[in-house]
Amino acid sequence: MVDNKSIAEVFHEIADLLEIKGDNPFRIRSYRNAAMVVETYPESFDTLVREGTTDLQSISGIGEAISGKIKEIVASGDCKAHRDLLKQVPGSLLEIMQLQGVGPKTTALLWKKMHVKTVEDVEKLATAGKLRKLPGLGEKSEQKILESIQNRKKFSGRHLLSQAEEAAEEILRYLGAKPGEKATRKSSRRTAGVNFFAVPAGSLRRARETIGDVDILVTGKKCSAVIDRFVKFPGVDSVLAHGDTKGSVRLKTGLQIDLRAVEEKSLGAALQYFTGSKDHNVALRTRAQKMGFTINEYGLFAVDRKGEKEKWVAGRTEEEIYEKLKLQFIPPELRENRGEIEAAEKKSLPRLVELEDVRGDLHMHTTETDGTASLGEMVEAARGRGLQYIAITDHTQSTRVANGMDEKRLEKQIQAIDKLQRQFNDITVFKGTECDILADGRLDLPDSILEQLDVVVVSIHSHFQQSTREVMDRLERAFSNPHVRIFAHPTGRLLFHRPAYAVDLEKLFALAKKYKVCLELNSQPERLDLNDVALRRAPELGVPIVISTDSHATQQLDYLKFGVRTARRGWLEAKHIANTQPMKTFLKTISRH
Ligand SMILES: [Zn+2]
Ligand SMILES: [Zn+2]
Repeated sequence: MVDNKSIAEVFHEIADLLEIKGDNPFRIRSYRNAAMVVETYPESFDTLVREGTTDLQSISGIGEAISGKIKEIVASGDCKAHRDLLKQVPGSLLEIMQLQGVGPKTTALLWKKMHVKTVEDVEKLATAGKLRKLPGLGEKSEQKILESIQNRKKFSGRHLLSQAEEAAEEILRYLGAKPGEKATRKSSRRTAGVNFFAVPAGSLRRARETIGDVDILVTGKKCSAVIDRFVKFPGVDSVLAHGDTKGSVRLKTGLQIDLRAVEEKSLGAALQYFTGSKDHNVALRTRAQKMGFTINEYGLFAVDRKGEKEKWVAGRTEEEIYEKLKLQFIPPELRENRGEIEAAEKKSLPRLVELEDVRGDLHMHTTETDGTASLGEMVEAARGRGLQYIAITDHTQSTRVANGMDEKRLEKQIQAIDKLQRQFNDITVFKGTECDILADGRLDLPDSILEQLDVVVVSIHSHFQQSTREVMDRLERAFSNPHVRIFAHPTGRLLFHRPAYAVDLEKLFALAKKYKVCLELNSQPERLDLNDVALRRAPELGVPIVISTDSHATQQLDYLKFGVRTARRGWLEAKHIANTQPMKTFLKTISRH
C-alpha cells in the first residue's frame, strides 16, 4: 500500500532534482502541482489505481504523464523518471537544498564548483569560511547556513505533531482499536466494541509541536497477539524489539513507535507515567512522597510508617491517581510543570478550549491563488464541518510564487462570494484577504479595496532578515491601518525549516492591544504559530487570539484540531479565542471601534 503522501513525495523530489539541474520552470511547476493535488486528494490513489474504475486523468491537475507515473509508483514505490534523475543528480543534494538560505541554484553551484554532496561537506566549507566566496553568497549567508545546519541537528529524529498523530491513528486502525483523541478524552476507560484498549501516550498525547518517539499502550486479554500484529504493520521499516509485553518498530518515515502491554489495573498509572512530561512527573512524585505515597507506572502505593510495606491504592485510571493526590484532573496538554500542579491543588485549572467550541475559520486559500480547491469547494467543505462562518483570504500581488491577487482580481472574488452567499443561510462567508505587509510596513493593497472586505488578515512573507527594530516598525505601520483585523502566523517560523523573524513578542502584544488587532494561532502543523508559551501571554495582556487553519486544501480544514490542542497547551479557554463566539459577537470583537 502506497499512501498519497509517498506518491507526492516522489513528485516533490523530481521537482527538486529538476530545479538543481536548472530544468524548464514549467516542467518543475507541473510536478509541484501534481504533488499538491495528490497530497490533498481525499481518496487513496493506491486504491483508485488498483480498482481501476476511475480514470486518473479525470482528476483536475493530473495529465497523462503524471497519471502514468502515479501508476508506476503504486506498482513499485518509485518511477523511472525519478530513478533516472537520481543517476544524474546525487540524492543527498536534496537535503542541502532544505537548508535555509540554500536554494536550488546555490545547491547546483556547490555541487558543480565545490564538489559538495552532503550537508557535512557544506558544514566543513562554511566553518572554514570558504562558502562566502561563492557568487551570490557572503559572510552573512554563510552564517545563516551554519545556523540552519545546527537547527537541523537539533531537530533530527523529531517529527511534526501531525505526522506522529497520523501514524499513531493509522496503527490503531490497523490494530482494530478505536483511534486516538476520543479514546484519550475518556482517559482510561475501556472502549466498547474492541477486546483491547490502545491509546497513545507521551509527547503526542501532550500535543507537543514536535514528537520524538510515539508510545502506545495496550491492555486487554491478548496483548501478545496485538504486539505480533503490530510489528507486521505495513509501514514498518525495521523491528527494534519484539517481546510479549513490548514491541518497538521504526517506520519508513524514521518515526519510532513503541507499543507496551500493561495490566488493566495499571493502565491509568502507566498512561500517567508514559504521558509525562518528565518534569511534571518529577513534581508529582515529590508531592506523592510528601503525602506518604510512592508512584510509578504500576500504580500509586501507600507506604507504611517504616517506609517498608507498600499497598496499592490507585492506578486503574489517571483520574483516581490525581484525586488521591488531592488534585484536579490535569489535562495532558498542561503537564509540563509550568504551574499546573499548583493550579490543580487550588482547583483553579483553566477550562481549556475544545475543538467543538470553535465556530469559524478566518484564514484559507482557494485556486485563485495557491489553494487546490475552488471557492465553492472550500465553502462546502466548511459547511460539512459545521463551521458557522469562514473568511476567504487569498494572497496579494507581491506574493508572486502564490499567484497573489491584485485589486481587480480581488474585486471579482468579492462579487463571486456575494453571489455564492445567496445560496446559503447556514454559513457566512466573509470577504477577506491575506494581505502582505511590505518591507516598509505598507500594505500590498490600497485602502479603497481593503474597506470593501469583512476581514483583513495581514502577514509577513518576505524580508525575513530584518532587525527587530525594522520588524517592529514595519508591524506598527501595518497595524496602524484601520482596516487590519488579524495578524497571521505572527512569528513566521516553519518547524524544521525556518526560525522566527526578529519579532519582539512582548512588543507585538503591546502593538496588538494598542491597535486592537487579533493575533492568529495558525494551525498548519509546520507553523503552530503563535506557540504554546507565547499564547499563554495573550489573555494576561488582553489580546484576543483567532485560531485559523490557513487551509490550502479542503482536508486542511481539519488542522483546526492541531491549533486547538496548541491553544490548550497555552492554557487558553474558549473565552480567550475570538472565533469561538457566535458570528455577530465575533465581528464586534474584531472590529476596531
Ligand atoms: Zn501566509
Ligand atoms: Zn495563508
